[in-house]
Order: sequence, then structure tokens, then C-alpha cells
Amino acid sequence: MTVLDRTGARTGAYGSVLASRIADGPGGYTGVVGDGQWAAEIRRLADLRNATVLAHNYQLPEIQDVADHVGDSLALSRIAAEAPEDTIVFCGVHFMAETAKILSPQKSVLIPDQRAGCSLADSITADELRAWKDEFPDAVVVSYVNTTAAVKALTDICCTSSNAVEVVASIPEDRTVLFCPDQFLGAHVRRVTGRQNLHIWAGECHVHAGINGDELADQARSHPDAELFVHPECGCATSALYLAGEGAVPEERVKILSTGGMLDAARETKARQVLVATEVGMLHQLRRAAPDVDFLAVNDRASCTYMKMITPAALLRCLVEGADEVHVDLETAKLAQRSVQRMIEIGQPGGGE
Ligand code: SF4
Repeated sequence: MTVLDRTGARTGAYGSVLASRIADGPGGYTGVVGDGQWAAEIRRLADLRNATVLAHNYQLPEIQDVADHVGDSLALSRIAAEAPEDTIVFCGVHFMAETAKILSPQKSVLIPDQRAGCSLADSITADELRAWKDEFPDAVVVSYVNTTAAVKALTDICCTSSNAVEVVASIPEDRTVLFCPDQFLGAHVRRVTGRQNLHIWAGECHVHAGINGDELADQARSHPDAELFVHPECGCATSALYLAGEGAVPEERVKILSTGGMLDAARETKARQVLVATEVGMLHQLRRAAPDVDFLAVNDRASCTYMKMITPAALLRCLVEGADEVHVDLETAKLAQRSVQRMIEIGQPGGGE
């Protein structure tokens, strides 16, 4: 149990001197350094709570290093469902923790800061999707996994960027498709499938703006021997996926890879330099996998502020207080789970650690 002493410090089995330093501000929880003492405390508290700690690839390096598993959102949700622990601490953004809850409704799912949202998931609400469906009552709705549980519940089939083409191709050609919320992924799917009855929602991730065509082409020109890895599992890189297909960089140098594929390719590449078009957090895993390769961000400002709200202080507070808990009502969870399940039945969702 955690109690507050007269100084406000959290004490008791879940508390510690470290926890007394946690401060809350507009940008999130601060005041704690992610050093060895902090890491040992996180592991102690995770054991006490019988919790498994999951970290998305775009998390801060110290959060990735202290976690039990690191990966993309869907791979982590599946790990959450199979984990023997009854508490899941999801270090990522809110829709990801919701997806873990949808796939493991009986477990308690915690996110270190529930204010960690996602501009792409926020670009379509359940009401907006309902209104869009009313305009096309016979359409099949395909939603990218970067959506809220309420949007997934109104969706026929979810998709990831690895299987979006396969998911759309599985729908009979005469059926209209509503694709949301990512316009770049939608445009990529329309180009590859040649499908004209695919309507695309105009949503986007704010981080992708840092990975534009000129920057991509400039970087490719100034590093003529470098390969280009595009990891499209988060909306931030779907513009790069689109631009690579448009010929902004020579096709033979571009590799579109899921997380697992990207780490394998990093270990196997003969290139000395690799340009990475994704959120900068991914560089940490790549450099660990292949320390001799020079991994360069296509844009080193492509950093997701929401992901970075999961600070060492936020994770410590989460384990001390057992908060913030993620709730999804049972009916929404059941409908949302069905759309995720349909995706898994159709094709390889990609990802993996
Ligand atoms: S990088 Fe973009 S898509 Fe990914 S969590 Fe951040 S805002 Fe959302």
C-alpha cells in the first residue's frame, strides 16, 4: 500500500524516496532521472504488482531498456494477451493501451500517462465515422489500428500498414470501401490495388510532416550508398511509404519493413549507412541490433511528443499508484475485438519484436 507522509512523499511497499520527486506539469510527469536506481525500482515495483511492462519502439531509450518486451502496438497487444501476469503496463499512447485491453479484457491495463494521445487516432471520432457510414450505408469500413476503441467498434476490418493492401483486396470488388483515418496509407492502398471505389478519410499524424518528399530525396542524394528503411507501423512513416512508391528515392534502395523485419534487415545489411524514415525512437533498437551500422534519421525532428510523455517519472508513478487504468466498456470491446480478429484472419498483421 502507498501512503503519503507529511512531506507528501509516497512511502510503503509501493512508495520510495524516488517517488517523492515526481512532479506533474503541462507536458507530463517529470523530476525523475531514468538511471540504474530508477530501473531497479521499476523492476521491484513491477514484480510487486505482478505486472509485465511493455514498451513501444518509439518510447524513450530508458523506457525501452527497462521493459519486459519492446515492439509495435499489435505485437505488444498480443504479448499482453498471452502474458501470465494479470497487470499490463503499456508504455505507448492511449489507443495502443486500449487495443491491449480489447484483446485482454480480464486484465488490468495501465498506461503511465493517459494524456498520451495520438493525432492520427484523434483525426476521426466515432460520431464522424457514424455520419460517414450513413452516407455510404453499404460500404465496408476498414480502419488502421491507430484508432480509438469506439472507432474500431464501428469498423468491419482493422488493418496495419503491413497488411492494408491485403485486407482491402479481400473485399469483393463491387463493394465500396471507406478507409480511415490515414490519408497516406489510403493513397498507397488505392495506388497498389487500383481500386476506385475506395474513399479515404483526410486524417494524418503530425509527426509525418517532418518526413516530406524533398527531405527524403535530399537525404537519399547526399548518402548515395545508404539503404532506406521505412517502418510504416505508425502513421508517422506512411508518407515515406507513399513517397517511396512515387519514386522519390530509387526503388532498389528502399525497404518497407515491419519492426521484426527491420531488425532482421539491420543485422543482415551490407550497407554501412542506413537512412531510417520513421519516428526517431526506432533508432535505439536498430543501433542495439547492429552497432556497426550508421543509422541516420531522415529527419531527426520526427519525434512524437505523445510517445515521449511516458517519462521515467510517469512510469514510476504508474507503478506506485496503479494508475492510469484503461477502461473499455464490454460491448465496445466485443465489437472492436471482432474487427481486429477479422484482420488477423485475413492476413499477416506484421510487426513482432
Ligand atoms: S507518431 Fe503519429 S501516429 Fe504514432 S503515436 Fe505519435 S501521433 Fe500517433
